[in-house]
Amino acid sequence: MKKKMNLAQFIIFIESYNANINIPLIRKAYEFSDWAHDGQRRETGDPYIEHCLEVAFILAEQHMDSTTIAAGLIHDVVEDTPVTLEDVKREFGNEIAHLVSGLTKLSGLTYKSTTEKQVEYFRKMLISMSEDIRVLIIKLADRLNNMRTIDPLSPKKKRQIALETKEIYAPLAHRFGMAKMKWELEDLAFKVLEPENYAFLEKKLKESYHEREQYIKEVTEPLKEALKKNNIKAEITGRAKHIDSIWRKMQKRSVTFEKIYDLFAIRTIVETERDCYHTLGIVHNLWKPVAERFHDYIANPKANMYQSLHTTLIGPRGRMFEIQIRTKTMHYRAEYGIAAHWLYKEGKRKYDESDKRMAWVREILEWQKEFTDSEEFLEYFKIDLFFDDIFVYTPAGELKHLPKGATPLDFAFAVHSDVGFHCIGAKVNEQFVPLTTPLKSGDKVEILTSPSQHPSTDWLKIVKTGRAKSKIRYWLRQQGYNQAVSLGWEIFQKELKRKRIKSLPEQELTEMAMAMGFSDVDQMMARLSTGSISLKSIINRLEPAKTEKEKSLLRKFTEHAHRQPRGIKIKGAENLMFRFGACCQPLPGENIIGFITRGRGITVHSQNCPNAAAINEPERKIEVEWDVQKGESFLIRLEALVQDRKNLLKEITNAISEADVNVRAAEIHTDGGKPVIDKATVGHFVLEVANLAQLEKAVQKIMKIHGVISIDRAKGPAGSE
Ligand code: MN
Repeated sequence: MKKKMNLAQFIIFIESYNANINIPLIRKAYEFSDWAHDGQRRETGDPYIEHCLEVAFILAEQHMDSTTIAAGLIHDVVEDTPVTLEDVKREFGNEIAHLVSGLTKLSGLTYKSTTEKQVEYFRKMLISMSEDIRVLIIKLADRLNNMRTIDPLSPKKKRQIALETKEIYAPLAHRFGMAKMKWELEDLAFKVLEPENYAFLEKKLKESYHEREQYIKEVTEPLKEALKKNNIKAEITGRAKHIDSIWRKMQKRSVTFEKIYDLFAIRTIVETERDCYHTLGIVHNLWKPVAERFHDYIANPKANMYQSLHTTLIGPRGRMFEIQIRTKTMHYRAEYGIAAHWLYKEGKRKYDESDKRMAWVREILEWQKEFTDSEEFLEYFKIDLFFDDIFVYTPAGELKHLPKGATPLDFAFAVHSDVGFHCIGAKVNEQFVPLTTPLKSGDKVEILTSPSQHPSTDWLKIVKTGRAKSKIRYWLRQQGYNQAVSLGWEIFQKELKRKRIKSLPEQELTEMAMAMGFSDVDQMMARLSTGSISLKSIINRLEPAKTEKEKSLLRKFTEHAHRQPRGIKIKGAENLMFRFGACCQPLPGENIIGFITRGRGITVHSQNCPNAAAINEPERKIEVEWDVQKGESFLIRLEALVQDRKNLLKEITNAISEADVNVRAAEIHTDGGKPVIDKATVGHFVLEVANLAQLEKAVQKIMKIHGVISIDRAKGPAGSE
């Protein structure tokens, strides 16, 4: 909309394509918006209502229904004015309120990062989209107008909006087959992100305009004639492709502008599908086709439902050019995608339930639940947006669309979860390949399965699709639960044996578990293994509690240090109960290894702990890694050999504090301690440190103190694991 339009002209425009337009509704929405945004101006200096009217105009250009256009007019009132969603509901009803709600950013919540905030917004938008895809259509119209009027914003803000447009909104438009929207968004984003390259290409296109038009004429004239001779009614147009796609072609093929042969495409729009193939035959008769550059997207539509025949030909003077052949309906769908559903359908908001593009939204909503990390969700979301980058075949010839870089394992999960779970190998084009092999378009993929095969955490590194990743995670979590249940049972039975207590019959045990608030015994056992309930609380119900023996201060602290450790991630089995080996007391920064210990969960040792090395049962080994939260600390016991003197203890504790380490306990045994060398005494310290580096810093400080002979990590009882 170059010239500014007023409401009356706008209504005339809608009437030109929609005889059933709801004029009172459009008027009311316009006036409501004008009133709500009164006094607000955009960064361009224009009154805010102009943005709303232009968004509505972009929707009208796509022949959207009155409801959508009305929602477009008031899309910003809840976010940017005191008007509430309840106000909108009261004035305009549920349908419009739902559309506006889906377009309103979440408020009143605090987020750790901008990514998290962005992801929460996308999640909300996806849910609204799955209920009514017009939320997306309005959002894209909004974004398009914002991109068209982006100039007055700060460079930083411009970049941020352009990047989001390039990475999320243009791909979303593509995903839903809205080619026209996608092209303009991409070009506008490219202009902001790479202004010099954009200007360069714009100039090149302008310079080559006449020569290009001449060539287009040279090929369209004979084509027109040939089609006429064959009684095929056709509209033939030729035009340059959009700047962003030309640039990407140059990058991909590493060639100069001059070397891009498909700068323009000839579009031939015919009446019927039969005419499409007939035209193709005529075209191939006029010019020699380049065999590998023929695509039949009519028989094999793209994932976004795009349909057309594409063929590249060797034209006059040996120059290659592309022709796209399709029917009017296909053309309209190619330009407007999912928005085409509303054409001439005033008041009918139903779209085809079997629309694959809607199934995609539902699938994302399904797998996103498994992602708790925003960054990770965003990464997989972006990959899935480019879903139709490659297509491969099942042995039965069925087509599957996958993102670029997808592996046979992704393919297996795309076929069926069960195929994925039991995937043991793959054949690509009859050849055995590793599961990590990236697939290429046109590959025929066969998956080999085995009932004994199961997912492992390594698979998470192989897959590229959100779907596969979330399925594997789900399986591992389930598996983790089962493992936790059996570990819980083991802990429980061992304790019964040790205390010579008889267990209860199953029925009574179930009753007991339920009395404790669990759904069944297994759940209780799983919770026992994760340490979220204590063994004592279960045993106590079977036998009366015994009094605890007196313990020394140090004993208490050391036990505390081992009782509730955090900061460890166990691969494939999260939340299992574990403790640190008393013998080595590893700290973050040290390499560690876990051992499954009968009846006691998992014991974590330092990798060079002699006790760990002595365990010669590989099946008990389990990979663990540090997963330390900020601010988390670990208790560590030190044993020092000192020549005791006045103030020594105080100097040592001061030195430790200087290293920013808390002292939880300190003792020097002036009597009763065992003298090792002449006049030497043993001291014990319990420190609270974040990691190995911090401990080493403290030890260095202590070593500088006069009278300290040596200081080491205290050894635990020998043979303990
Ligand atoms: Mn807006």
